[in-house]
Amino acid sequence: MTELAINGGAPTRTTPYAVRTTMGEAEKQAVMEVMDSGHLSGFFGSPGPQWLGGPKVQEFERKWADKYGFGHAISVNSWTTGLMTAVGAIGIGPGDEVIVSPYTMSASATAILFYGGIPVFADIDPDTFNLSAESIAARITPRTKAIMVVHIFGQAADMDPIMALARQHQLKVIEDAAQAPGVHYKGKPVGTIGDIGGFSLNYHKHIHTGEGGMLVTNDAQLALRCQLIRNHGENLIEAQGVEDLTNMLGSNYRLTELQAAIGLAQLDRLDNYLETRQRLAAYFGAQLADMPGLTPAKVAEGAGHAYYLYPVKYDAAVTGIPRAAFVRAVNAELPTPTIWEQTGFVEAYVKPLYLAPLYQKKIAIGSKGFPWTENPDVNYDYSRGICPVVERMHFEELIYTPLMREPLTEADIDDFIAAIRKVLSQPQALQGK
Ligand SMILES: *Cc1c(COP(=O)(O)O)cnc(C)c1O
Repeated sequence: MTELAINGGAPTRTTPYAVRTTMGEAEKQAVMEVMDSGHLSGFFGSPGPQWLGGPKVQEFERKWADKYGFGHAISVNSWTTGLMTAVGAIGIGPGDEVIVSPYTMSASATAILFYGGIPVFADIDPDTFNLSAESIAARITPRTKAIMVVHIFGQAADMDPIMALARQHQLKVIEDAAQAPGVHYKGKPVGTIGDIGGFSLNYHKHIHTGEGGMLVTNDAQLALRCQLIRNHGENLIEAQGVEDLTNMLGSNYRLTELQAAIGLAQLDRLDNYLETRQRLAAYFGAQLADMPGLTPAKVAEGAGHAYYLYPVKYDAAVTGIPRAAFVRAVNAELPTPTIWEQTGFVEAYVKPLYLAPLYQKKIAIGSKGFPWTENPDVNYDYSRGICPVVERMHFEELIYTPLMREPLTEADIDDFIAAIRKVLSQPQALQGK
């Protein structure tokens, strides 16, 4: 039996995993064209034709909307500001409760706080890691105004029961599809199954513009409100004939022409990227399936998966190796990453959001407890134990790999599989690690 690399043996693989490079000639040319034009942004924050941005921004939005049949696409300078815009546009205000997953990037919940809304965390489904409709239902109160659905790791959440709840209780639904561009649920593109949604264009996402985001909605009124929030709505509201001033305090969340030009070229690459990730994920999952103690990603009936990350459930009782030791031992079999995307396995994903000091101390806007002070009779409980499935995934069971992506091939995944099999075959070599 060959000795494990973590114990001084030869590693399974020494050639570094290729680093993903999303930028190519098309992006370079697109940028140079904008540079030559001299117009790096086309926005004006006052009435007139340019309040909706320059030609590249508008072309990028049209192209994204047309590709998936979205009624409206509104670009923003990050998906964090996109989420804030969506929360503002649907009218969330101080004391309004919004139900959200705690197993997501922090911004899915902080976007709610920026408008004085109160994040109420619901638990997830243990197979898909997306919000469970039963848990949402148990959190609905007369103060609930919206549900923030996150398509985590790139898999579409089970939207039918969530939309049924939303209709029954007259709640708005926002879809955080940052990790799921191009994904469909029962034939419908994610992002506009609820009222409004969108995608991240940050450097780590499938396609990117350095930083950026894209809001999508089929509701013309919501689209207009997003455009106003993005660009100093207070100056524009009269010219646009909008009478409801709620949350029309604007900001500057505008994308530059340079970024939009890059985004136009990036969008052409998305289908190929998704195809590669899905192919590698299927290949990897098929081999994991015969490894006791490792459960491959489960894709629900009717749900698409973009594999932003590939989640695996790990059962230490079956493998006989603690999770942390397993992850360290597998990674030791692989070349040392220079960036995290080259890492074999990562433990746990994010800590349940409610365990962060922000929620534990209930200090968000100012230092006097706003917005929780808006509902002084309600005890918002953010203690350990409120979402047992999320906690079990984070503290015990979940591991993920970022390796299911271009430009890797099946041969690269074979080395990863060999490393996993080698470690699983020697639990006794990892005792006390
Ligand atoms: C990346 C991400 C965000 C934030 O997007 P930015 O463009 O980085 O601001 C929000 N939600 C989820 C689920 C994300 O993965």
